[in-house]
Amino acid sequence: MKKVFSFILILTLLLGGCAEPTPPAPIYEEAPAATEKGITVAGSPLSGVYSDGVTEYLRLQEFAEALGGSVEITPQEQTFTATLTLGDATHSFAEGKRYDGEQWYQPKETLMPLLEGYHSFEDTEKKHTYYTAYPMADNVAEGIDVPILMYHAVSDNCWGIRQLFVSPKSLEEQLQYLQENGYTTVTFEDFDRLGEIEKPVMLTFDDGYSDNYTELFPILQKYNAKATIFLIYNKLDELPYYLTREQVKEMNASGLVSFQSHTMSHPNLDTLNEEQLQYELGQSKLELTRLLGKEVFAVAYPSGKWSEQSLQVTQAHYQFGLLSRGGTYESGDHPAKVSRYYVRRSTTLNEFIDMID
Ligand SMILES: [Zn+2]
Repeated sequence: MKKVFSFILILTLLLGGCAEPTPPAPIYEEAPAATEKGITVAGSPLSGVYSDGVTEYLRLQEFAEALGGSVEITPQEQTFTATLTLGDATHSFAEGKRYDGEQWYQPKETLMPLLEGYHSFEDTEKKHTYYTAYPMADNVAEGIDVPILMYHAVSDNCWGIRQLFVSPKSLEEQLQYLQENGYTTVTFEDFDRLGEIEKPVMLTFDDGYSDNYTELFPILQKYNAKATIFLIYNKLDELPYYLTREQVKEMNASGLVSFQSHTMSHPNLDTLNEEQLQYELGQSKLELTRLLGKEVFAVAYPSGKWSEQSLQVTQAHYQFGLLSRGGTYESGDHPAKVSRYYVRRSTTLNEFIDMID
C-alpha cells in the first residue's frame, strides 16, 4: 500500500509539477521546389519562382526588398504570421503559408496586386519575367513643355565627327545654368508626374560612347542631374569607343541614368522591312532589358529616320520614340515622334538657353 502511494506521489510530481504547459512547436512545412522560371522585380532579380506542383510561390523577403520594403515574421502557436511593410502600407499574411527555416514562401498570386503600376515583360526564350514601373504614353498630362536636348559624345578628344563631341567644359556650364535657374532634369520615368516638376528639361545622349562614363557620369554626379543614354546594343563592349556592360550596369544602379534603345546596329529605320524592324526594335528591347533588369520603353531613331511602318513596330514595343530634331516637345504630342534639340560642339551657352527657354 505504501509503495503504491509513493508511486502515485512521484507520478503526480512528475506530471503536475511542470508549472507551464509548453506550446507545441511551430510546424515547418516542406519548402516548395525551384522551377525553371525567373523573375525580376523593380530591377532586382529574385532567386526564383517556386512551386509545390499546384501553386507558385515567391520568397517574401526578397520580394519586399526588391520593392524597398521589409518583412517581419512572428511565431504563433503551431504556425507563423508575416507582415510586409511597403512605405506606409502593411500587408499581413497569416498561417498556412509555407515556412522553411528563414524563408517564407508566399503564393505569387497574392503578391501581384502589390505590383500595381508595374508592367510585366516576358522573356519567353529564357522563361524570365520582368516587372518594371514606367509611365504609359497615354497617361502623360498634356500641354507641358519639356525641352529635350540631344547630345552624343562628351569629350575634347574628337576622334570622329567633330560636332558630335560636346566639350565637358561646355556641358558643365550648361548644367550649372540649369541648376542656377531652377530647372529639373527628368527622364521618361518622371513623365507621369510632369505637372509637379518645376521647369523640366531632358538630357539625352545617343550611341553610348565610352566618354559617357568617363566624362559625363562624374558631371551628372556633381550636379545630381539625370540623363538618358540611348544604346546601340551591338556596340556594347567595343573598346575603346563604346560603353562596356559593366559601366552601363554601374550607371544604371546610380539612379541618375535611364538607359533606352538606339536599336541593335544603328540602321536608317526608313529603309527596313518588317523582319528587320522587329530585329532592330524588338530584339534591342529584349537584350537591353536582360542587361539592365528593367524593361526599356523608349527608342531613339538612328539619325532621326523613320517610316510609317517603323512607327507601327516602335509602338508595338515602346511607349516613346525620339526624333533628332523638331524643337520643344510638348507632352501629349505624338509619343512616337518626340522632338529634340541637337546640341553640337559649336553650340554656345546663349544658343543652349534659347533651346530651353
Ligand atoms: Zn545615333
